[in-house]
Amino acid sequence: MSYVTAKGARVPAIGFGTWPLRGWRGRCAIERALRLGYRHIDTAQIYGNESDVGRALRASGVHRSDVFLVTKLRRDNLHADAVWRSTEESLRRLATDYLDLLLVHWPNPAVPLGETLEAMDRLREAGRARFIGVCNFNIGLLTEAVQTHHADLLCNQIEYHPFLSQNRVRDATRRFGMIVVAYAPLARGHVLRDPTIGAIAAKHGKTPAQVVLRWLIEQDGVAAIPKAGLAAHAAQNLEIFDFTLDPDDRAAIDRLSQVEVRVQEREPGTPEWDPA
Ligand code: NAP
Repeated sequence: MSYVTAKGARVPAIGFGTWPLRGWRGRCAIERALRLGYRHIDTAQIYGNESDVGRALRASGVHRSDVFLVTKLRRDNLHADAVWRSTEESLRRLATDYLDLLLVHWPNPAVPLGETLEAMDRLREAGRARFIGVCNFNIGLLTEAVQTHHADLLCNQIEYHPFLSQNRVRDATRRFGMIVVAYAPLARGHVLRDPTIGAIAAKHGKTPAQVVLRWLIEQDGVAAIPKAGLAAHAAQNLEIFDFTLDPDDRAAIDRLSQVEVRVQEREPGTPEWDPA
């Protein structure tokens, strides 16, 4: 495993996405991921699977302190009292007394951003979250969070894969000393049939998914959280630390982003995305 570091955090570069893994099947997939060696688990209040994550973590026998555990506040839990109450509920469901990272899942213009960030900061001071961060923030919102509200954020979790360059928001995130966590890093499978990626995979004796994940984590300050319900996929997505892409591979994949495919719809009322 390699790690992305910022602000004193050491984040496993490949995490395990858990949406929409739930119930017995979901628990099996999450427990298996932990046994395979995943040490960065991404969940959210809205996924309805925090208790499955908690149970899988206990069943795996992996020590809590060895896992970088992430959850996200629902959009309707962004007022200060709801930040506190819902985080306590998340902690109970996850059967832990702290989170490694607490994120705003989606911006909510109906709630003052400063109120949410201050409440999250107080949770951090209280030891309930080691780090705080955001998801789906455009450059304008990131700038407001950091420059107006002086928030000390670890990451911006955004959709990022070879069909969506995200150069501008990625670079802005890094300029603020934050890391980028790439969600939907395989574009939910869309990128895997691309002939350019297929050719690079064949050249390295790897799969298209492995090439895509490698392209992401070879970038400065970028981690990725692929979801894999199938055991073979989950195992494969961890086997990416024994090869590197050549500069011409990287350039060829960079060129694919001109297509600009988004697999995640914007929540109603959230600010426009930055142009990729
Ligand atoms: P994704 O990880 O890009 O794609 C998941 C799909 O790829 C599944 O169908 C999976 O199949 C398949 N797959 C995984 N590994 C593969 C491999 N090696 N070969 C072939 N196919 C493979 O998309 P995602 O699930 O939307 O995103 C990942 C995680 O990001 C989510 O689980 C969630 O934790 C997070 N997320 C966050 C936000 C946000 O707003 N912050 C939004 C969306 C997602 P199988 O499951 O059949 O193995």
